[in-house]
Amino acid sequence: MAAEIRLFPCLSDNFGYLIHDPQSGATASIDAPDARPIIEVLRREGWKLTDILITHHHADHVGGVKELKQTYDCRVTAPHDQKVAIQDVDIRVGEDDFVQVGALIARVLETPGHTLDHVSYVFDSERALFAADTLFSIGCGRVFEGTYPMMWQSLLRLRELPDDFRLYCGHEYTAANVKFALGIEPHNEALKARAEEVTRLRAAGKPTIPVLLGDEKKTNLFLRADDPAVAAAVRLKGFSADDVFAELRERKNKS
Ligand code: ZN
Ligand code: FE
Repeated sequence: MAAEIRLFPCLSDNFGYLIHDPQSGATASIDAPDARPIIEVLRREGWKLTDILITHHHADHVGGVKELKQTYDCRVTAPHDQKVAIQDVDIRVGEDDFVQVGALIARVLETPGHTLDHVSYVFDSERALFAADTLFSIGCGRVFEGTYPMMWQSLLRLRELPDDFRLYCGHEYTAANVKFALGIEPHNEALKARAEEVTRLRAAGKPTIPVLLGDEKKTNLFLRADDPAVAAAVRLKGFSADDVFAELRERKNKS
């Protein structure tokens, strides 16, 4: 039986995610921005939280862990990090580790850059990628702790996943990302189509997530720093993908 995934707003612009295995009844929250909305959705669905899968240590991703653990006595999985910034953790995971949520299996990919501890969770059987603040629709996370080349390598890892995977990211930033991207690639037809879709969804009060990874590969500049056309668009013809990525990210920081 296929997993059920619920997506809902948390805090100002975070996404909350629950993934539920109907066979075993197991339910995982991907990150825990805020306990209240997560508990509300769990109650509405009649689900019991068994797991929290944390992507990185930022407060807007772990703020609800303590209350959820107290309420459900769930198991908390978090990335390895030397600083042990994340509290109430039961299991630490890294590259190539697997986490079981009932019959569902999440594969761990280390995707550092935004933070050094950032991991992404891939549910291959569900064709689902939970990338938190590494990859956004039409954007990527700010590079706070890592380096630009490190972040670019992490994005390349995610780009390797098949086109039919769906991206579930950490924030609803798509409209601002589209505006920035159109400034650099005004003639990208796939991007223009996505822009129209995003305008329609936002006007209807609907999330712009999930999105197919195959579509993201055509529209997201930050996944195409090695494309000569993107290099030319930021006047870095012949420069390395690392340089093009750094330029894109810095322009976005200033936008
Ligand atoms: Zn973050
Ligand atoms: Fe965040």
